[in-house]
Amino acid sequence: MPIISEPFGTYQKHDVELFTLKNSHGASAQICPFGATVTSIVVPNKKGQFTEVTLGYKDLAGYIGDTSYLGSLVGRYGNRIDRGEFRLNEKNYYLNQNNGTCHLHGGIEGFNKKLWQVSQLDNEHNQITLQHTSPDGEENYPGELQILVKYRFTEEYELEIEYEAQTDQPTILNPTNHCYFNLSGDAKRTILDHHFKLNCNAFTPMNENWVPDGKVTSVENHLFDFREGKNLFSVMENSTDEQRLLAGGVDHNFIINSSLGETAEAVEVYSATSGIALKVLTDQPGVQFYTGNFLDGSIVGREGVAYQKNTGFCLETQHFPNSPNVPSFPSTELRPGELFSSKTTYRFLVK
Ligand code: BGC
Repeated sequence: MPIISEPFGTYQKHDVELFTLKNSHGASAQICPFGATVTSIVVPNKKGQFTEVTLGYKDLAGYIGDTSYLGSLVGRYGNRIDRGEFRLNEKNYYLNQNNGTCHLHGGIEGFNKKLWQVSQLDNEHNQITLQHTSPDGEENYPGELQILVKYRFTEEYELEIEYEAQTDQPTILNPTNHCYFNLSGDAKRTILDHHFKLNCNAFTPMNENWVPDGKVTSVENHLFDFREGKNLFSVMENSTDEQRLLAGGVDHNFIINSSLGETAEAVEVYSATSGIALKVLTDQPGVQFYTGNFLDGSIVGREGVAYQKNTGFCLETQHFPNSPNVPSFPSTELRPGELFSSKTTYRFLVK
């Protein structure tokens, strides 16, 4: 199927298009170059009805004003860096702080607020490639970074996301996607009845500044043991676990059971309401499991529905938050001459 494009609005006097990648079964993903955003994923439910499984805005203006990262590509560094500080090559860097004293999701104007260039539309593979150049010093990161992302929507109902990047100076990089999913197909319902299974034996607890500081906690006998699968009701009701209380839900980096660089099936989520399941496959070492705790009804989505607390969840495949300050975590450094690459697949099926 050819990729369809349609006008979506204007940003700083540039016309911005919305691209629809449809497979031959009629399922689709929509991509907008503003923020390299995934604005929609529509897949069949157990009755064969096409069902929207993401939260999103009705128009570009929504994405321009967004502060919750709906569907966007976050970077350079997804999630938090403590005080925005890190040391690299014997130099200290002070990134912009945009979340208390933390640097979050790339700073004040991260990749989610950039108008990416469309560099390729590949109808044969149902794939769009977007490209962005981040200048040296942007948000105080070192090095000019050339980054591209490929979104491909397959016949097997998969959204494949691939990142590639290069730098001209040593820097750090940790891009991810920030889609909020609600597999029920009804954004008025919470995701608390979804069944979550995480292939993760451990997570990185956060300190009082909301960043992992090197501790790794086994999920054995812990509220966050999702290995056998469970829904979120019991987790949200728990009033004793200090990590749950601190985050107001789950908002944690889980360590995927895999060796570094190896692709693993990290997560499986299921909604009995729709019969839709989501599997997340990635070559990244971690996944930020965020249960939409900060959604508070202030966003009115494309359906005219106010998105309330816990009406969407994110599974942000990534390196661990605050890695540049924790030598025991896998490194997020990127050096000149190296090619950064990472891949995540969101696969939808019915059960
Ligand atoms: C973070 C949350 C943050 C949210 C912003 C998530 O990735 O883990 O703490 O509030 O993004 O929407």
